[in-house]
Amino acid sequence: MLSSLVASATALETIDERLLRCGISRRSFLVFCSSLMIAAPYGLAITAKTTPEEVAAGLGKVTRPPVIWLHFHDCTGCTETLLQTSHPDFGDLILNVISLEYHETLMAGSGMQARQALDEAVQKYSGKFILVVGGTIPTKDQGIYMKLAGRPALDMLDDISGKAAAIVAIGSCASWGGIPSADPDPTGAVGVADLLPKKSIVNIPGCPPNPYTLLGVRLQYAADGTLPEMDEQRRPKFAFDRDIHEHCPRRAHFDAGNFVKQYGDAGHREVRCLYEMGCKGPDTHAGCSTRHFNEIPDVWPIGIGAPCIGFTEKSVAFRVPMFEVVKIHTIAAPPTSYAPIDTTRGTISPLATGLVGIGVGALVGAGYDASRKFSKVQDDESPPGSAPPGSGPVTGSGTRSGASL
Ligand code: SF4
Ligand code: SF4
Repeated sequence: MLSSLVASATALETIDERLLRCGISRRSFLVFCSSLMIAAPYGLAITAKTTPEEVAAGLGKVTRPPVIWLHFHDCTGCTETLLQTSHPDFGDLILNVISLEYHETLMAGSGMQARQALDEAVQKYSGKFILVVGGTIPTKDQGIYMKLAGRPALDMLDDISGKAAAIVAIGSCASWGGIPSADPDPTGAVGVADLLPKKSIVNIPGCPPNPYTLLGVRLQYAADGTLPEMDEQRRPKFAFDRDIHEHCPRRAHFDAGNFVKQYGDAGHREVRCLYEMGCKGPDTHAGCSTRHFNEIPDVWPIGIGAPCIGFTEKSVAFRVPMFEVVKIHTIAAPPTSYAPIDTTRGTISPLATGLVGIGVGALVGAGYDASRKFSKVQDDESPPGSAPPGSGPVTGSGTRSGASL
């Protein structure tokens, strides 16, 4: 992994050359390209191909983009998400696909050695490197709450951003303030775009964000010098086009009025909708519901039984209390009352029995359609209620093995 950080002399080699030199298998690279295609099914020229082989053929010719990664007021979780992949060699592969020239968390050097490495990298790749910023920038009291090499983050950002070819703000902190900017925030923490409003900046919010979004943006820029189409909050549309609520596997429960009322209750174990627990899915745009973390099915907040907190929305995360119920803006709100499920016992006429039979048949059909619609496995032909192929046994809580409440 650290080999990437001492490979400055060969940073501008192509990805194919680098993988060959480092003995990375073709198969690993194809798996990586498949993951990239799933994370960015449209909106990026590099993944607009029909097979992983075609994506690999195109990406292999791309010159590895030099990246300088600055950590400001952060927890390094955004770096962890890049490295904690489920395939053992993926962290290494990712660091071979890009050329990470400076990254405080991963590099061995410290003190003057690190400072020198940063100066050299900025000078050597001036006008060519992609600047990735993690964490907020404190602005109160001349920025004294975050210093790097003795200089306030404010100064460092101002200086280094002017020499970068493109800037990516990784995580909710760097995008617009994140946790450090939550009340009462004595440091005046802001995001990169707040300080550099005229610069071309890509925001990749999330806490942490999906690493493939970052890789997609960086590789696209390295391939043809373009940045992906962005929304009004500077988020790449290919990754933030979706409303969590519209693509949530628990949506059928929302529509039917089946809600979790308390953690650990029967509804929670039956994987019902988390709306009443404060789920911000109806107000949140992100790809989490379809692009799970670490390539593990169901590894995302709602998948493990926690409500969505709205980390990718500036006006939601760390602004709206965690358990406060959000308003439903874009779709019909859940009804306030539902038909009772339990009925009193009594004598049923043959006509009523026939009508009930027709109704039950329709409901079973609808339920089957819904389970197919929300199945996490494409073309899943398994019967409703059974585990989709390859997903492992269903636990008592309704979650797949490997995930827990
Ligand atoms: S966005 Fe979240 S994971 Fe990333 S640095 Fe901030 S607190 Fe940590
Ligand atoms: S409210 Fe949350 S848990 Fe319920 S369907 Fe919407 S996104 Fe899913």
